[in-house]
Amino acid sequence: MIRHAISVDVEDWPQSTLDHDLPITERSVVNTRRLLELFAEHQVRGTFFILGRLAERFPEVVREIAGAGHEIGSHGQSHKAVFHIGPDAFRDELDRSVGLLEDIAGQAVRGYRAPDFSITEESLWALDILAERGLRYDSSIMPVKMRRYGIDDAPRAIHQLPNGLWEVPMSCVPFGGRRWPVAGGGYFRLFPYALTRAAIRRLESERLPAIVYLHPYEVDPAELRELRLPIPFRTRLTQGLNRRHVAPRLRRMFQEFRFGAIADVLDDEATRAASGARTEQAA
Ligand SMILES: [Zn+2]
Repeated sequence: MIRHAISVDVEDWPQSTLDHDLPITERSVVNTRRLLELFAEHQVRGTFFILGRLAERFPEVVREIAGAGHEIGSHGQSHKAVFHIGPDAFRDELDRSVGLLEDIAGQAVRGYRAPDFSITEESLWALDILAERGLRYDSSIMPVKMRRYGIDDAPRAIHQLPNGLWEVPMSCVPFGGRRWPVAGGGYFRLFPYALTRAAIRRLESERLPAIVYLHPYEVDPAELRELRLPIPFRTRLTQGLNRRHVAPRLRRMFQEFRFGAIADVLDDEATRAASGARTEQAA
């Protein structure tokens, strides 16, 4: 049974989405704990890409995630887009967040996910910096062009780059002449669970592990109602819609499919590649 990857970008919605200067609030911790409980119920290990600013403010939550056996990755320091900050600030943010997470969690950080999938055609230089800093993999590329991010025609499968870094792209499924990023975020919230299930089965038929992502705030239906911040109407609508469905859908997905951390899925890929090479040698 193919193992899929579940990943969580650990951040606080107002700071990551509305204004990068806002403080990180306790709400992000409460929501992360909800996810930790849900993962524990189903004995699922996942990858948690943690924002450096959140780790600074709430180191205990980093320890709780690591203590529960999950893989810790970096989500950068400030949640500013990679293509906005440029190579020097990117390197600084990476070093700072990785150093911080390793100190708190007591485990090596080998994976990175860019804020808002902001490794695009204009910021591919970031992949060389990740390799230079000794990371094992990046999981930041959305292989379909969206409004603010994504690269059309980027490979859909996990692959190794010439610089040695592994790229673990978000799952997309081709349908009707284009690709659909069905395995996370808005799509996971807005479309019925049956669509997620069909997408994962489609990926399985191609021998591709699904790379699914979500955020702690997505299991918090009351957040946008309760926040005392000016939130544009459209943002309120799109970002708040169907959050109540996320936890039940996650439970169904965990019951129906096998999930693990990205590091585990990468190990599976390496094993498969090695046994494939052996089979070829034998033939
Ligand atoms: Zn994020």
